Amino acid sequence: MRAGVARTKSNMVKWRLKNEDGKCDCGERQTDEHLLICTKNPIICTKDDLIQANQNAIDLVTHWLQYNI
Ligand SMILES: [Zn+2]
Repeated sequence: MRAGVARTKSNMVKWRLKNEDGKCDCGERQTDEHLLICTKNPIICTKDDLIQANQNAIDLVTHWLQYNI
C-alpha cells in the first residue's frame, strides 16, 4: 500500500492473477487510492500516514488484511 502497488482487486486483474471485475465489496473499483476512502474502511489514513508508517497506516493495513487483499 505504501508503494502504491497493493494487492487490490484492480491490480490483481491488471496482473492477470484474478479473473474478476476488480470491484471492491462496496461496489467501487478497488484501486490503491480507493483503499483510503472506501466506505468499508473505518480507519482515517492519508498517503502521508502511509509514508510515515505511523499507527494510522498500521491500522489501515491491518483492517484490509482482514479482507484478504
Ligand atoms: Zn470499497
